[in-house]
Amino acid sequence: MCPMCVVTPDARTSLPATVEAPQQARAFVSEVVCPEHGALAEDAARLLVSELVTHAAVYGAPPLSLQIGCGVHELRLEVRHGGSSVLEPADPDGQLRLLLIDKIARDHGESPDPEGTVLWCTVSTGALPESPEGPTPVRSSGGPRAGKDDEGPHL
Ligand SMILES: [Zn+2]
Repeated sequence: MCPMCVVTPDARTSLPATVEAPQQARAFVSEVVCPEHGALAEDAARLLVSELVTHAAVYGAPPLSLQIGCGVHELRLEVRHGGSSVLEPADPDGQLRLLLIDKIARDHGESPDPEGTVLWCTVSTGALPESPEGPTPVRSSGGPRAGKDDEGPHL
């Protein structure tokens, strides 16, 4: 299992089961992606949530919600919907979408949930392991932390 991220807690949002859902899901990823570990994974995560949400909206049932969690080495993307399994779509569009998710995600699957079903996937962040002493303190270049953290490590 991945360690818990100490920087970014899980974030969840509800989404409409409409054509706007994928775009809202992509925007939510950019808003809440872990600044410490998620920078390299953001593009893949945006693409993946878009596909997961579209798939859940087409084959599942409302209400839809999206949860994003940082596990340091991977991001976990979960789309909840009120329907049952969506892993065996009857039409080629759905099958192609699952194939795409399978290619881009590190892992993907489905879990039953009290609210319906969770379609989830994980994406590698490329983050290096933390030192055994714990996370390296974030260095800020002088002045009190202003809450905003634009100065990440230059990779
Ligand atoms: Zn993180």
